[in-house]
Amino acid sequence: MPFTLPELPYAENALEPAIDAKTMNIHRTKHHKAYVDNLNKALEAHPDWAKKSIEQICAEITQVPEPIRGAVRNNGGGHYNHSMFWQIMAPKGSGGAPSAALAAAIEKSFGSMDAFKSQFADAGMKRFGSGWAWLVVKPDGVLAITSTPNQDNPLMKGVADVVAAPILGVDVWEHAYYLHYQNRRADYLAAWWDVVNWNEVSRRFDAAARKG
Ligand code: MN
Repeated sequence: MPFTLPELPYAENALEPAIDAKTMNIHRTKHHKAYVDNLNKALEAHPDWAKKSIEQICAEITQVPEPIRGAVRNNGGGHYNHSMFWQIMAPKGSGGAPSAALAAAIEKSFGSMDAFKSQFADAGMKRFGSGWAWLVVKPDGVLAITSTPNQDNPLMKGVADVVAAPILGVDVWEHAYYLHYQNRRADYLAAWWDVVNWNEVSRRFDAAARKG
């Protein structure tokens, strides 16, 4: 099996109260696991695709053979998105702050950190139904906020509105918050800032900026 369910880099209850342990457990061991299992199953008869990285598969999604493209888009996207999601969160107080370079880029693109947070939350709120809001580094090095439906992501050329390197993403599927917040997506998005791992987001920003 080429793809495996990653472990959390912290305990399931470590993000409380922003995200409760039961939500974390179901989200990773049921939802994310299903994406991994279904991705592996879709790629069983396609060893040339099974040997690629998940980033590569997402970037080349329009070239995936038609009979499995839908399954790979949904489940491969789901695997990439959730693997990143676990990494860009950390227990409250341990995620650090944006690096000087990232803070400067946020200020340049959005005016201020507060303005960025408000625009990012807005992208999450306006995503109708299920999907993600993203902070991305465009090929010219400029930051942008975008959002995708379902399990699409900004790596997907020919699919995403903005094709760029994601450095922060928030899951706004109801399965990400409904147990604790019910319909209150805005409250989830507001509390979520407490558990953003800015050290990891800054590392991803540096890596994307270096790649150009
Ligand atoms: Mn999810």
